[in-house]
Amino acid sequence: MTPPRAELAALPTPLERMPRLEQALDAGPLYVKRDDLTGFGIAGNKARALEFLIGAALADEADVIVTGGSPASNFCAATALAASRFGLDCELLIAGPAPSTPSTSLELAKAAGARLVFDNVDRREDLDAAVVDHAASLRAAGRHAWPVPRGGATPIGSLGYAYAARELAEQADREGVRLRTAVVATGSGGTQAGLVAGQVGFGLRWRVIGASVSRPAPMLADQILRTARACAKSIDLEPATADDVDLRDHRGEGFGIASDEDRRSARLALTTEGLLLDDYYGAKAMTLFRALLADGAPTPAVYWHTGGMAAALAALTQGAR
Ligand SMILES: *Cc1c(COP(=O)(O)O)cnc(C)c1O
Repeated sequence: MTPPRAELAALPTPLERMPRLEQALDAGPLYVKRDDLTGFGIAGNKARALEFLIGAALADEADVIVTGGSPASNFCAATALAASRFGLDCELLIAGPAPSTPSTSLELAKAAGARLVFDNVDRREDLDAAVVDHAASLRAAGRHAWPVPRGGATPIGSLGYAYAARELAEQADREGVRLRTAVVATGSGGTQAGLVAGQVGFGLRWRVIGASVSRPAPMLADQILRTARACAKSIDLEPATADDVDLRDHRGEGFGIASDEDRRSARLALTTEGLLLDDYYGAKAMTLFRALLADGAPTPAVYWHTGGMAAALAALTQGAR
C-alpha cells in the first residue's frame, strides 16, 4: 500500500562528503545528508513529514489544518506554507503570548495566511490536546479540520523519514559507501521515529543516534519507538524494537540555548564545510556527532542536517557565533 503523498520536497537531497571536517576531527569518512536543502520554503526536515501529513489531509478532504508549537516552531511555519501551497487553511496554536520581538517562524506563517491563536494553554505539553479541541470546535462549526500534533510526530508524518532512510541507502550504495552511524537532532521525535522505522524496516546496517534537544530522553525514546512501530506497520515493514532507539540527552541548559561546545560545533561546521547550524537543533546534533566520533563510533558516519536556517542566521546577527 502506498500512502497518499503531496509533493513538496526536491528529492533526493544531496549526500556530501566532508573532507575538511574529517581533517579537523581526525575521523572519517564523514558525510552530511543535506536536508537543509529539501527545497520547499526553509522547511528543512519538515518538508518530508508534511508531504505525508498534507497528503493524508487532502485524501480525507480536509479544508483546514490545525497544529501548534512554540513561537520559534519551524513546523508551524512550514505547515502554514505547505497548507497555502495546497489551498488549505491553517490555524496555529502558539504557546504563550504573542512575542514582543518578531519571530521569523511566526511572521512566515502569518505571511502565508495562517491564523495564529495565542495564549490558549498554560504549558507547552498541553498544546496537542488543545489542537484536538480546536479542531473539534472548527468541525462543530462545519469545517473539515485536520489536527496535527506538534512537530508532525505521528506515524503518518514519520513516513517521510522512513523513505528518507531508503533514499540515503540508495545514495550510499551508488557511492560504494557502507554507512555505520547516522546522527540527527531530535525535537518532537517524528524524524528519528521515521529514520528508525526505515533503518529497521528496509534492513539497513547503520545505527541511528538522536540528540534530544528539548525533551527528557527516556520518555521521548518510548514515544519514538511507538511511533516508529506504527509507522512501519502502516507500510508493512518489520517494526523496530527498543534497542533500535538510541537517544542522547543534549538539552544542556535548555531548548535553543547553545553551550560553548555547541557554539564550537556550529563554528566548525561553518568554517570547514560551509554548513549553517542553528542553536536549537543543528549545533547540538553536531556536538553529539563530534563526541561519538571522539569515542570511536564506527564510520563511515553521516550527520543528518535538518535545516534551521532562520535560527542559524539569527544566531549570526545576534553575535552568538
Ligand atoms: C523540527 C526540527 C528538528 C527535529 O525534528 P523532530 O521531527 O521534531 O524531532 C530538527 N532540526 C530542525 C532544524 C527542525 O526544525
